[in-house]
Amino acid sequence: MNKLWNTITEHIVAPTRLTADQLLGLLTPIGRSVHMRRHAASVIVARVQLISALFALLVPLWAVVDVLVFDGITATWLVLLRLVSAGVFVALAWPREVSATRPYTQAVVMLLIMLMVPPLFYLVSLQIIDPVGLTDSQRLVAQLYTFMPTIVLGGLAIFPLTALEILLFSLPVLGIALTGMTSGGAELALDQHGAALWFMLMMMGVAMFSGMSQSHYMESLVYKAMTDPLTGAYTRRSGTEALELMFRLSSMSGKPLAVAFFDLDHFKTINDNYGHEAGDHALCTLVERLRGTLRRGDVLVRWGGEEFIAVLPDMPADQMPAFLQRLRGAGFGTRPDGTPLTASIGVAESMADGVMDWPALVELADQRMYAAKHGGRDRAVLPGELTVMLEGAATAATPTAASAG
Ligand code: GH3
Ligand code: MG
Ligand code: MG
Repeated sequence: MNKLWNTITEHIVAPTRLTADQLLGLLTPIGRSVHMRRHAASVIVARVQLISALFALLVPLWAVVDVLVFDGITATWLVLLRLVSAGVFVALAWPREVSATRPYTQAVVMLLIMLMVPPLFYLVSLQIIDPVGLTDSQRLVAQLYTFMPTIVLGGLAIFPLTALEILLFSLPVLGIALTGMTSGGAELALDQHGAALWFMLMMMGVAMFSGMSQSHYMESLVYKAMTDPLTGAYTRRSGTEALELMFRLSSMSGKPLAVAFFDLDHFKTINDNYGHEAGDHALCTLVERLRGTLRRGDVLVRWGGEEFIAVLPDMPADQMPAFLQRLRGAGFGTRPDGTPLTASIGVAESMADGVMDWPALVELADQRMYAAKHGGRDRAVLPGELTVMLEGAATAATPTAASAG
């Protein structure tokens, strides 16, 4: 069964193996890291702009058909409708920066506006074109308009979206299609509308599959570019970008952002006594353990050789002792001689420490990490210079002098 699952995920869904956590990440965007959200948002915005630019040209061009096929007043209204639609597409295609603070909201709003134009066009066209006494060519063009909601549902396939997002974007489109089918008091009938509805659901399914597949592909590329090949933690460069964005978001929302700076204790002796590979292995184990306890949306950065930073959004200083105990409880792995690997940890929190920017936050956490080292290692120093012995309960210590930057 497991083999079958791996075959499916490896060869059909994506060229890489899919873990349960990754699968969850493809079903819903909830808990996606800010970095991934920003990447998905910039791909969506770029594609919305490209398609809108194309439609801004094609939509008015089709007016020629309306003028040739329909009589004067109907053609005039259709051309006007086309001009309004083209105006919306021009506005969407207009060159703009992706928002630095709310990229995802911007992407969702732009995509939703673009998706709504064709179905609304179809709905309004129903009011303009009188279905009684249409010629064959007029009926053909009117029928083409009824395909607009279906085309939009299929069009969702080109965006890196999760299953839930596809579903949410599809609902208003389906709603408009149903409104169109029942306009003028018509009843929904299986023989008349069943095939069209079935086709729309098929399109939604295709879009879901393609969107998830694209999301996964994008995430693996972004992940590869952003992470350290040895441990899989964020590189310092991508960590810095994440910190900058997360600090800005936390300041705007008035929520605390905490940073925990880890430096492994006596790490050099592992390299010296057991070789560099044993050291590498210990680093990988540490990251694996930390990942197991960190929440989705927390970011783990390899800041330097055996120094790591955990960026913890919405984590007030008073919750840190319990959180650190959980981390330490899960363990940081063992040294080759079987003794537990320990770390000195410095914690800073944006609100409790009243810092103005992320470098000050990291600097403070770094200083407290040194204080933890000087205090005897295997402990954490928190805001207010509270020392927490990691194996035991929190103890308020005499303020420790920060000794290095
Ligand atoms: P302390 O408790 O004071 O932190 O002692 P330490 O031995 O851990 O001292 P320090 O933090 O200065 O040592 C860092 C060591 O980490 C030195 C370097 O050899 C080792 N190191 C850094 N990056 C890597 C790596 O990628 N792999 C391995 N195996 N070792 C690394
Ligand atoms: Mg070090
Ligand atoms: Mg060290």
